Amino acid sequence: MGAAGVLDDKDRIFTNLYGFQDWRLKAAKKRGDYDGLKDLLAIAPDDIIDIVKQSGLRGRGGAGFPTGMKWSFMPKEPSPGRPNFLVINADESEPGSCKDREIIRHDPHKLIEGALIAGYAMRARACYIYIRGEFIREAETLSAAVQEAYDSGLLGKNAAKSGFDFDLFVHRGAGAYICGEETALLESLEGKKGMPRLKPPFPAGAGLYGCPTTVNNVESIAVVPTILRRGAAWFAGIGREKNEGTKLFQLTGHVNRSCVVEEAMSIPFRELIDRHAGGIRGGWDNLLAVIPGGSSVPLVPAHEIIDAPMDFDSLRDLKSGLGTAAVIVMDKSTDIVRAISRISYFYKHESCGQCTPCREGTGWMWRVMERLREGNADISEIDLLWDVTKQVEGHTICALGDAAAWPIQGLIRHFRPELERRISARKVAEASPALEAAE
Ligand code: SF4
Repeated sequence: MGAAGVLDDKDRIFTNLYGFQDWRLKAAKKRGDYDGLKDLLAIAPDDIIDIVKQSGLRGRGGAGFPTGMKWSFMPKEPSPGRPNFLVINADESEPGSCKDREIIRHDPHKLIEGALIAGYAMRARACYIYIRGEFIREAETLSAAVQEAYDSGLLGKNAAKSGFDFDLFVHRGAGAYICGEETALLESLEGKKGMPRLKPPFPAGAGLYGCPTTVNNVESIAVVPTILRRGAAWFAGIGREKNEGTKLFQLTGHVNRSCVVEEAMSIPFRELIDRHAGGIRGGWDNLLAVIPGGSSVPLVPAHEIIDAPMDFDSLRDLKSGLGTAAVIVMDKSTDIVRAISRISYFYKHESCGQCTPCREGTGWMWRVMERLREGNADISEIDLLWDVTKQVEGHTICALGDAAAWPIQGLIRHFRPELERRISARKVAEASPALEAAE
């Protein structure tokens, strides 16, 4: 690893992230994909799971659950008629997130090889990649890459001459955000309405078609072949303890140059932005706040994030989260109340309506946010809104309730004076004509 937690070029996993080279099988093989695959598939499945555990890889879809441990929950000996399944979540719908899209567009064979290895390690009979409906070109590329892999014997019966039979299917979603939630995704895959299931049972016990299933994010699976080739210690040597490895960051908003970049986990925020995004628009003094992990995580004000390591634990300590590492930068020109209100609208719109705190609460919270945006509220309603976010958080079937509550909590925690200023300013403005009339 380079200076100050920066990733060396030699440690990059995604060497065609920007599509400068061809995505097809021949070019992918030249980049090292499928290299020694037969030998990797000769490693005992449990040993592969151990290597992934030792690498420290945590799920890249947002929750950050240790990937190897998740794999170890799958039955070691699938019972007849109840096969194990691997499902890859390529529904990428969190506002700000656009990394899995780049992998699928430009490096689809990394994902396919990862699926084969992960499927083998979990004794899965097949894998389904559930891809976001709007990713039309990406779905075409991925399907073509899967076909290439079948044609060259890397998938299907006796995949890669390993003696292991493994099928891979690409399934397109229809555009609902909630289908990115793993159990709603499974419902949708089964042809039903995409509504989250109550847990337990967890998918490892009863997932797709009631069979043991592991759902993983695209990036989590796509890094696995390189971890096996280069070793767990190499991956674990990048980043810091419990936050190991490389990570795709998506830098958007008021930076000089938006981009998706692979960097070392735990890189300091300032370094990440200066090095890859050309700095903050208008300079560092112009930074207002950052949403570091996709729209569902609470914002962090400028002074708290500037020197923070960008990883799971440091951002959790700042009462936010790494999420998908979709870093949304907001400079001082941002109407921060309006921005959060717009996010509230998104979650209201995407609620599946199944449970009351989410169905009713998301709409209620958005309506109050809209009034706060205009200052058309009473100061006491700020506390009331806070209370309602706490009543929604943790009281719903899936995490969409939390995702709707957290951005508002971040706003109140850090920008309460701005909310109060708007209310006072409106009161003064409304009182002025009355005063004039009285005079
Ligand atoms: Fe549906 Fe919202 Fe309940 Fe999730 S929290 S199950 S999205 S109503």
